[in-house]
Amino acid sequence: MDSRPLRLRFVTSATRVAQLPGSTAEVAFVGRSNVGKSALINAVANTKQLARVSNTPGRTQLINMFELEGGGTLVDLPGYGYAKVPDRIRKDWPEMIEGYLLEREPLVQVFVLVDGAIGPTPLDEQMLDWLRANAVPHTVVATKLDKVKSSKRSTRRRDLAAGCRLDPDDIVWTSATKGDSIDHLRTLVRTHLLT
Ligand code: GDP
Repeated sequence: MDSRPLRLRFVTSATRVAQLPGSTAEVAFVGRSNVGKSALINAVANTKQLARVSNTPGRTQLINMFELEGGGTLVDLPGYGYAKVPDRIRKDWPEMIEGYLLEREPLVQVFVLVDGAIGPTPLDEQMLDWLRANAVPHTVVATKLDKVKSSKRSTRRRDLAAGCRLDPDDIVWTSATKGDSIDHLRTLVRTHLLT
């Protein structure tokens, strides 16, 4: 399967599902703020351009939509648990994210990012429980693998998987910095969007 960089083009930002244009198929990336979501999206696209778009002040609190060349869309959901956001906005987040995850018709798969060095946090566990309870198809992607010493990796893999109540083999272990599993993640996204 094709593991070349994903050619992504920014389409739009929105606060509500109803504002999003249609799509043939869609995957979404979600995770706690600072989990490494921008770095990972940049890595799969092999560019620094997209994160720059997403990091425009204000944009990180919105649903950002990108079109994949060849078909389908990738959605970057606002990071949860960011302390510096005003209460007014933070209150709207669960509703915005949940609304998207429950109502978005073309959504085929959610990639839930968990910090490989420290996760899952209670908020991550809450997100996973909620996805399970609502039968939303998802894959856990652990980030920042390079931050875990090689001697600690097998224990960390086991602990993170247990925290997520998953088998270690069901988790995609990535490093945006070193490139681990970036090809695999590209292939997964393509498989969901193009087949
Ligand atoms: P976001 O808030 O989820 O979009 O997170 P960012 O992509 O902005 O990353 C948050 C911080 O983690 C930044 O300081 C990044 O440099 C760092 N980071 C992201 N990915 C990696 C990685 O694969 N390895 C390491 N060591 N640091 C990373």
